[in-house]
Amino acid sequence: MSHYCTLIPGDGIGPEVAQAAVRAVEATGVDITWRRAELNEAIILESGKTIPQYLLDSINETKIGLKGPVTTPVGGGFQSVNVVLRKTLDLFANVRPVKTLPGVKSRFSDVAIDMVIFRENTEDLYSGLEHEIVKDVVTSLKVITRTASEKIARYAFNYARKNGRKQVVAIHKANIMKLADGLFLRCCRETSKDYLEIDYKELIVDNASMQLVMRPEKFDVLLLPNLYGDIVSDLAAGLVGGLGIVPGANMGETHAVFEAVHGSAPDIAGQGKANPTALMLSSVMMLTHMGETQCAHRLQSAVEAVYAEGKTLTIDVGGSASTQEFTDAVVRVLRA
Ligand code: NAD
Repeated sequence: MSHYCTLIPGDGIGPEVAQAAVRAVEATGVDITWRRAELNEAIILESGKTIPQYLLDSINETKIGLKGPVTTPVGGGFQSVNVVLRKTLDLFANVRPVKTLPGVKSRFSDVAIDMVIFRENTEDLYSGLEHEIVKDVVTSLKVITRTASEKIARYAFNYARKNGRKQVVAIHKANIMKLADGLFLRCCRETSKDYLEIDYKELIVDNASMQLVMRPEKFDVLLLPNLYGDIVSDLAAGLVGGLGIVPGANMGETHAVFEAVHGSAPDIAGQGKANPTALMLSSVMMLTHMGETQCAHRLQSAVEAVYAEGKTLTIDVGGSASTQEFTDAVVRVLRA
């Protein structure tokens, strides 16, 4: 079957890892046509639009995107492209599987970590509603709705049921934000009643962070509002060897955009040092979504084989290979 995908390379290390992921996906033999849509700071400033129309037109046609990171100015400037895209396309579920890869040296190399993070993707403190009430007094609105909370909770429980997961833990700060996080938690609790075969637990986010570091192997499915989900994702990535290897998917009812957890990594951009594993594994999620399960399985196995061999790994995971050398190794396994 032929597939169409909007490829958004992004900026920073984005174009490097996107090129690597495209090579790996094509080496699986899948029939895919890429619609390339550039998106970076220069384009945003020139067009005056956070998301250019050509990108929206393309993704509305293909319904599927593979996206590299896009830099967001800190403490001012334009809104996060990533946040706007997720809201515009109602990509309400951010799914991030965090799993130990063979041979990666991390502080937890001897622990089998296998958790999936479900982060609400459209509201919370990412509403972008900020006001300076009077000079030097600022408020940021945290928006939590029943609709969005129920949607992410049901999505996570459905995933758990379909994938034989044993436990869902809802993570919150409802002891302090009694209304906002209280509503999120109530929605998770109510939804859990429709999934009695799955163990349901609740943890306050500070305690959850400590437990994640002390006993990461105990976690299965994590269900969080937007901000905690963002922070806990990076923490979880650190447990399995860093941001270079953790993939992700932004899922909606009609559209899906696959992208790594990591950002544009300006400190290593353009140096051939970026690890493309995270975007390759995001591509595995994309191929699965397309129904190309065999190609997905082959790409996952090829990446794991290169890690198991351990000779061609990038610097962030203890090797000395460049982005291209790692990609060559994955493509070689796929073509063998
Ligand atoms: P970052 O994820 O870009 O980098 C954090 C650290 O991890 C850096 O040291 C970086 O070198 C390293 N790293 C990240 N990805 C790597 C990879 N694939 N291989 C090897 N090392 C890797 O986070 P940051 O520095 O806080 O953010 C930089 C920019 O990215 C900011 O503008 C931020 O807003 C943006 N960002 C974008 C997205 C997205 O597009 N989805 C996500 C997060 C951050």
